[in-house]
Parts: sequence; C-alpha cells; structure tokens
Amino acid sequence: MTYICVKCQRTWVMDEPTDYVSGGICRECITSYIRSRQIKAGNDACFGEPDECNELESCKYSQYCIT
Ligand SMILES: [Zn+2]
Repeated sequence: MTYICVKCQRTWVMDEPTDYVSGGICRECITSYIRSRQIKAGNDACFGEPDECNELESCKYSQYCIT
C-alpha cells in the first residue's frame, strides 16, 4: 500500500506499492505531534527513542513509540 501523509504530503510504501494512495500520517508528523504533547504535559520529548526511555511501562505513547 502506498500512503500519503495528510499533513506534509510525504508518501511512503508499506509492503507492495499501489497505484492509489491511502491517507495517513507519516512517522515524522506523528513524532513531532506526540513530542509537542509530551512537552505540554511537562515530560521529556522522547517519543521515537525507546532506547532513551526509562518509563516505557507507564508512558501512554509507548505502544506507538516502540513499533
Ligand atoms: Zn508527514
């Protein structure tokens, strides 16, 4: 499936490329979005760097962070 990011219009492919594109949000935009939320909440803006994380269990974003 070919995807296009609805925020930055970057395209990417998962598995096989397709002629049509599916809307989504790219990794970079998810990362910057969640990091801004982390900062607002007073936490470290560590999303996307699970190696840096010392609260993987309690972080509500860990599910997305480590995949
Ligand atoms: Zn994007």
